[in-house]
Amino acid sequence: MKIAMFSTKSYDKTYFERANRAHGHEITFLEPRLLPETAPLAAGHAAVCAFVNDDLSAEVLRSLKEHGVELLALRSAGFNHLDLEAADDLGLTVARVPAYSPHAVAEHAVALILGLNRKVFRAYNRVREGNFSLEGLLGFDLHGRTVGVVGTGRIGQIFAGIMRGFGCEVLGYDPYPDPDAETVLSYVSLDELFSRSHIISLHCPLTPETRDIIDAEAVARMRDGVMLINTSRGHLVDTGAVIDGLKSGRIGHLGLDVYEEEEELFFQDLSGQVIQDDVFSRLLTFPNVLVTGHQGFFTQEAVTNIAETTLANVTAFESGDGDLHRVTAAKGA
Ligand code: NAD
Repeated sequence: MKIAMFSTKSYDKTYFERANRAHGHEITFLEPRLLPETAPLAAGHAAVCAFVNDDLSAEVLRSLKEHGVELLALRSAGFNHLDLEAADDLGLTVARVPAYSPHAVAEHAVALILGLNRKVFRAYNRVREGNFSLEGLLGFDLHGRTVGVVGTGRIGQIFAGIMRGFGCEVLGYDPYPDPDAETVLSYVSLDELFSRSHIISLHCPLTPETRDIIDAEAVARMRDGVMLINTSRGHLVDTGAVIDGLKSGRIGHLGLDVYEEEEELFFQDLSGQVIQDDVFSRLLTFPNVLVTGHQGFFTQEAVTNIAETTLANVTAFESGDGDLHRVTAAKGA
């Protein structure tokens, strides 16, 4: 099948070419993001492969359909950026990679916690400059602390298990509790999780209910000096509210791998440009904030799984045989 792959980076090409040896699809690797202006590049391709910051609005989907696209193969788990109703109306089949390596994201959340707690990024810079002072680098033992996990699905449960290994007490909140999760965490209400946790990590999808789940009111219910970690989706957090929380000291540490307006920033080298997003720039001024550019998924294992599952989805669609991980309205984002 002919596949137009948008937002291609060098690593996508490497891993997709390798995985495609088993499938023999014809892939056109396109660097631009999928946008209304770039959608016509899909002409002549029956499948489009899109990533998390591609525009999958009704306008773009209509344009893809007009250019002969039948299958939208997302190389991500989340699909909150997709107008699923429009895809259904247009008769576009949408597939995704439901799980590629929950360990990758869970472990990255832990990397943010350790980096923030022990100020690894500040220590690294100091030592390089011959500054061996420990002032300002004081951390805390994770052992004995309480960690709150919002969303106890695949990633949340693995994260909870790792934190249990550090000797933390782990609380979980999920509107659909999983009895299996209770081996690594104890379910509580969201209110109790906010008020008791020293560290709160978000592992729920972005839905209308979870949008801004961390707003000013939520921050006000948290412990003083709480550490907040978001490796899920930027819009779970009202950035203005957490900036106020950082200024007041209510939030003691903030670790983000995702950001509300990341589409304009992440996955690009903007080091020679002036960042126009003042809210993001303000975040970077805090010594107790650590931001990474949506790299939670970025391990060899996860990228291999993403490429293999995406191409298997295309093959299943083409042959009508095998597992097609279809996105349907019932599954949520
Ligand atoms: P999952 O579907 O296995 O688990 C999500 C859990 O969230 C489910 O148990 C669900 O019941 C729960 N949930 C739904 N609504 C909720 C709410 N209102 N409050 C609390 N919990 C709620 O998904 P997963 O594989 O564990 O992935 C979790 C999220 O991680 C994804 O939705 C995605 O946004 C994010 N993610 C990020 C990266 C990255 O690179 N940073 C990569 C993959 C996934």
